[in-house]
Amino acid sequence: SSAPPGPVEHLTPSDVFIAVKTTGRYHRQRLELLLDTWISRNMQQTYVFTDGEDKDLRKRMGESHLINTNCSAAHNRQALSCKMALEYDAFINSGKKWFCHVDDDNYVNVDSLLKLLSQYSHAQDVYLGRPSLERPIEATEKLGTVRFWFATGGAGFCLSRGLALKMKPWASDGTFMATAEHIRLPDDCTVGYIVEALLGVSLIRSALFHSHLENLGLVSDIHNQVTLSYGTVESSRNTVNVNGPFSVNEDPTRFRSVHCLLYPDTPWCPSPRRL
Ligand code: UDP
Ligand code: MN
Repeated sequence: SSAPPGPVEHLTPSDVFIAVKTTGRYHRQRLELLLDTWISRNMQQTYVFTDGEDKDLRKRMGESHLINTNCSAAHNRQALSCKMALEYDAFINSGKKWFCHVDDDNYVNVDSLLKLLSQYSHAQDVYLGRPSLERPIEATEKLGTVRFWFATGGAGFCLSRGLALKMKPWASDGTFMATAEHIRLPDDCTVGYIVEALLGVSLIRSALFHSHLENLGLVSDIHNQVTLSYGTVESSRNTVNVNGPFSVNEDPTRFRSVHCLLYPDTPWCPSPRRL
């Protein structure tokens, strides 16, 4: 893909709607880490979409920033597309310029994100992310097979408001779930289907988004990445490589160490002088 044209639009954090998808059993296990790190600096533009009430989490996030979707807590196509549908509707209602979706095992560097998004116009058709596969996915429809690229939800992706508005007939007010059922594919594939197959807009690939499907140990230049992730399955730990300030035992995901690298002034980060 061609290089972005350079800054075209000045953006402030409040121009971006960041939706974090989570589920009840990950509130303590995953979300707390995000709240301690990147979300703590970006409360105002971050919205958590979950499936169970949690008074402590609500107190910490603020009334309007924790959305209990009442979607099923199962990890199936319906439950996940139910959450994505509500993320989309909430973004449309927010009036913000950019929609970005991430999972609860993503670290978001909002400064890098703004830098990336400011190279595009929110009024144009922009779909930004990282494809998870080497080739386009196929969906079977009555009239045949359609091929399209999609950005993997596990690395995070963004949509401009201009494009999101065009997606309305297939995404708003419950139609997203019907679209997902129509192609029988997961939520992130469904976004790709609407954008690429139905609207004819191409995914813009960015190497700055990262999921745990790739070897995260190879990620360099942590400061400029837009998203990071981790896999902590005992047998195959997959994390970015950062030296300190916390040990792998203290910080198995490396997100606390990344956060201190980016924001050394954070109260719980060891003062550089003592390193
Ligand atoms: N998730 C969910 N409901 C579930 C299981 C997972 O909403 O029943 C969310 C989870 O919180 C995360 C995303 O789906 O934001 C991806 O889940 P996970 O990282 O466990 O799986 P992956 O697909 O990355 O292997
Ligand atoms: Mn994951």
